[in-house]
Amino acid sequence: RDFDSEGGEETNINVVVRCRGRNDREIRENSGVVVSTDGFRGKSVDLSMGPSALSNKTYHFDKVFSPAADQVMVFDEVVTPIMDEVLAGFNCTIFAYGQTGTGKTYTMSGDISQTIPCPDGAGIIPRALHALFGRLDGEKAENSVKCSFIELYNEELRDLLSPDDKVKLKIYEETKKNHPTTLVQGMEESHITSAAKGIQLLRQGSHKRQVAATKCNDLSSRSHTVFTVTVYMKGTTDTGEDYVHTGKLNLVDLAGSENIQRSGAENKRATEAGLINKSLLTLGRVINALVDKALHIPYRESKLTRLLQDSLGGRTKTCIIATLSPAKSNLEETISTLDYAFRAK
Ligand code: ADP
Ligand code: MG
Repeated sequence: RDFDSEGGEETNINVVVRCRGRNDREIRENSGVVVSTDGFRGKSVDLSMGPSALSNKTYHFDKVFSPAADQVMVFDEVVTPIMDEVLAGFNCTIFAYGQTGTGKTYTMSGDISQTIPCPDGAGIIPRALHALFGRLDGEKAENSVKCSFIELYNEELRDLLSPDDKVKLKIYEETKKNHPTTLVQGMEESHITSAAKGIQLLRQGSHKRQVAATKCNDLSSRSHTVFTVTVYMKGTTDTGEDYVHTGKLNLVDLAGSENIQRSGAENKRATEAGLINKSLLTLGRVINALVDKALHIPYRESKLTRLLQDSLGGRTKTCIIATLSPAKSNLEETISTLDYAFRAK
């Protein structure tokens, strides 16, 4: 069977796949490799689902990164074009989607132990901050940059940058000059003047999240984090008038996708037990509705999609990075990750 994405109309949603190498446990348990890709930077993923090649399944995506693809390559191929859009004044979002342990946090944050220069293991967020300041310096315009970092767990928002945990964050929408904007009341927005400052905030917030995760063991797999960089750029029109335009980049490390499957999307008992990750499910529906060009996009049905409403659909760019384990022991989750990612195409 061949699932081909060719011939479709162009959308502003890009779907890429990144497969990590087998980890120590998968090697120790002798779990075979069932995922293969066409080179380290190709366009297809092949799953061996049984003893014969006939039972293989091939999926095509915008890009597919093999375990040999490093952080620099993923950044250059996926994020660089998106940075152009952000600097042109558009809102963009990059999601990492996949089973827990497949590399979402590695891809989004990676090694943040050092701010300058970026360590080899540094992921998208630190690299995006460096790229952003590198380009703003070159332009010499009067610009300013703000960062925020929040966590969403059980449909509740927590500010990872606020020293005060009691502050309740509230999402509301505002329309200015016909432009709907999502605002979060009570959210800390830190003005940053360098990439290093932004990376320090990422490190602080990640630490705060880890501390909380040791007290609540499903927090790190069931919560989403959203790191947002907003750029305010001053420009001058042809007639000499000053104006400010804004670009926004949301970098989202999603909850483990196993939370959708294990709970069973439509299972009533799971709903009652609060096992369904509403935001993860709704995100899938919003993306499918955008891809299908549906008239109604169900943004309002979850906190995550409300939060990102002004950055999904319309003149925005979205990239979903689906992360995979290559091991046979994870085959079932890998299939559902690929199916979810494929549906977003
Ligand atoms: P997730 O956030 O999806 O639960 P992590 O990002 O924490 O998964 O990754 C799990 C482990 O695998 C970490 O130790 C991480 O460093 C490692 N890892 C993930 N992806 C890669 C990769 N592409 N190359 C090297 N190590 C990786
Ligand atoms: Mg993680």
